[in-house]
Amino acid sequence: MLKNIDMSSNIETIRICQYCGKEFIAKTTVTRYCSHTCNKKAYKAALKTKKIEKSNIDTQLFKESSIDTINNSAFLTVKESACLLKCSKQMIYDLVNSGRLKSIKLSVRSTRISRIEIDNLFKINIRRDKEN
Ligand SMILES: [Zn+2]
Repeated sequence: MLKNIDMSSNIETIRICQYCGKEFIAKTTVTRYCSHTCNKKAYKAALKTKKIEKSNIDTQLFKESSIDTINNSAFLTVKESACLLKCSKQMIYDLVNSGRLKSIKLSVRSTRISRIEIDNLFKINIRRDKEN
């Protein structure tokens, strides 16, 4: 039997390369690619897919935090309110704590502010300006 010269591995299994689709003989049952090249190419392709996915998520997050979206939301987070008023989150907390901005607490760490309340904030200020 000259066929099995390599005695270091006695497993030979026919597998299909997950990158090029070619059948190949593997020495382990978990080998996924026919060659080092396919392995490398598949790795790069996966990396690229991941990058695209991340980019899409980034775009989605950017869209969600854009002013237009905030303007169309009935309830805002502290961060969104700060973004809308172009001030710091601390400023929003100060407004909430001083009672000038009404808010609801969904949980200890989760505050929601009604979009209308922010508009009211401006109405009150305008009225005050007129009075003075
Ligand atoms: Zn291959």
